Amino acid sequence: MAENLESLERLVGELKRLPGIGSRTAERLAYHLLRASEADALALAEAIRDIKRNMRYCRECFNLTEEELCAVCRDTRRDRSVICVVEQPKDAWALERTGNYSGLYHVLLGRLAPLDDMGPADLTVDDLVRRVMSGGVKEVVIATNPNLEGDGTAAFIKEKLAGSPVKISRIARGIPAGSSIEYANNNILQDALAERREMQ
Ligand SMILES: [Zn+2]
Repeated sequence: MAENLESLERLVGELKRLPGIGSRTAERLAYHLLRASEADALALAEAIRDIKRNMRYCRECFNLTEEELCAVCRDTRRDRSVICVVEQPKDAWALERTGNYSGLYHVLLGRLAPLDDMGPADLTVDDLVRRVMSGGVKEVVIATNPNLEGDGTAAFIKEKLAGSPVKISRIARGIPAGSSIEYANNNILQDALAERREMQ
């Protein structure tokens, strides 16, 4: 009689659904977890459970938070007339680390990337338009990454906001082309923000 491997097959199946994990890697990870101590394996399960229970996207800006609104949106001292648009929460954190930006953020949760099948509907652009149209915003600073897809996303956003009276600027090219905001150092990010230019 064949051994029942249902639990193992279920874990392999779940791991295979993760991005970048093929069948062989999924199997390797599953066998690794099988050999690991119960405490180690369950620590992973608990971390997954906690992120789903505790973390969510900010109702306003889509940054990651454990509350309804993120710490930036909750902070009444922030300048609500400027919104800095970034691709991912980690980009907002990188800009936040410079300590030089006092406006709000808007996290797109991606970029336009036809090759990866990421289109406008996968981003939070409509929510950005709604925020801008609801008034009080004077400038939108687009801080998508300085590469083809980031530039394309910036152009798309500018088009979506055409007709609104807000100034739309793009961060300066201090960040090496093809590099990313996430890994740029504080000085470069400060300069990129300070030297932003209005998009034509
Ligand atoms: Zn927020």
